[in-house]
Amino acid sequence: MRLCRFGTGGTGVLCEVCGKQTQMLRVVSIEGSELNACPECARFGVEKSPKPKRSTAEPVHVSEALEKREKRAQTRDVLEDMPDELVTDFGQRIRRARERLAWTPEDLGKKINEKKSVILKLESGQMRPDDALTRKLERFLNIKLKEKPTQMSAPRASGQRGLTLGDLIKIEKR
Ligand SMILES: [Zn+2]
Repeated sequence: MRLCRFGTGGTGVLCEVCGKQTQMLRVVSIEGSELNACPECARFGVEKSPKPKRSTAEPVHVSEALEKREKRAQTRDVLEDMPDELVTDFGQRIRRARERLAWTPEDLGKKINEKKSVILKLESGQMRPDDALTRKLERFLNIKLKEKPTQMSAPRASGQRGLTLGDLIKIEKR
């Protein structure tokens, strides 16, 4: 399953399934989750079609609901090593780290080859750093700007993982 050999070390984007870099991401549906996958991993899913899919709001039998829940849980396990996401308070983290080092926005800009105005936009959250810039900021400021998506890092022990409130209501009504 982990056969991807696409563009490691290039400027590609990350496959959300295997975490490797690829030049050609495809949006596919794998076990009900929509993911950006490299061509290798895309084979394991259904290429997303522009047509609306069968509504998931239809009544679902308990057994089906449980089966879907099971599948979703499995998909999450497969995705344990998916790429980290930019934290929402990246601006604050950048500013706090910069101030801790007693650098002006200009100082930081010089170190990472960006204009002072870019630093200020990043710190105010007006601009999201791209991957390369994020890595530079993390390295120079010695901070973490990327973390596993919270949904993915939820403790596995919670028995309701993967079930929506709607699923629970449907189950209780039967
Ligand atoms: Zn892949």
